Amino acid sequence: MATETDHTNPAVDGSELIRFDQVTKRFGSNTVLDNLDFSVSSGKHVTLIGPSGSGKTTILRLLMTLIKPDEGTIKVDGDYLTHEDKGGKLVPAGEKHTREVRKKIGMVFQQFNLFPNMRVLRNITEAPVNVLGLNKDEAETRARELLDLVGLGDKCDAYPTQLSGGQQQRVAIARALAMRPQVMLLDEVTSALDPELVAGVLDVLRDIAHTTDITMLCVTHEMNFARDISDDVLMFDSGRVIESGPPEKIFTEPEHERTREFLSAVL
Ligand code: ADP
Repeated sequence: MATETDHTNPAVDGSELIRFDQVTKRFGSNTVLDNLDFSVSSGKHVTLIGPSGSGKTTILRLLMTLIKPDEGTIKVDGDYLTHEDKGGKLVPAGEKHTREVRKKIGMVFQQFNLFPNMRVLRNITEAPVNVLGLNKDEAETRARELLDLVGLGDKCDAYPTQLSGGQQQRVAIARALAMRPQVMLLDEVTSALDPELVAGVLDVLRDIAHTTDITMLCVTHEMNFARDISDDVLMFDSGRVIESGPPEKIFTEPEHERTREFLSAVL
């Protein structure tokens, strides 16, 4: 019988949850990521900042296997994402392998992408029932807890169009968490929202960052949010990390001229 613990995150042990090794991604002649190395330890909140077009979203799309690297490897929780290790030799991964590894990752997009024909509760239970094999009651109990967590406990029966953009994005956050991912990817999750709805979504994410063990990798232009939740901030420029460190260092004493210019333009 399935138990609650079958679906909980493993204890945060500081091990490497995401590792990019010499990852290069090109679109035509445009090298978007250039020999990129970086890692995220379990339980940490890492934020990617930098100018538009510097490659930040490409990193998240690689992790979701929406695109593949041209060179290099990506590991999630010790497993190759787009490769399989066959007796010490790396070969391109089959669909099944990639799907299993990707289950460890949840993503919240700029656009909320809720199922418009399903009520809020069903939007959240659909994947846990169909993909994780939870029974309906378990999935609904968990969905109600998550809706409480994002402040929408009273919206179970609403359809997405009856909600504000900010509320829809909070449902999308609950939906991502319902899959019990080890890492949550957040791609500029407030950029499609009216300004007055941004704070509510960021407050929910702050709360999740401060009260749960989940690992987060965020692309954001919200620098105050980045400062509040990040253990590490990576500054990107032209497909490379030009500077990284704790937020108090990056935001108050950046070393790189390009970081200073970027921050003075956005702060
Ligand atoms: P950021 O998130 O830092 O704004 P992106 O990762 O979205 O940057 O994009 C990096 C670069 O890759 C940009 O120059 C963008 O135009 C290009 N790019 C992204 N996706 C594609 C694609 N599917 N086809 C061609 N070029 C792309």
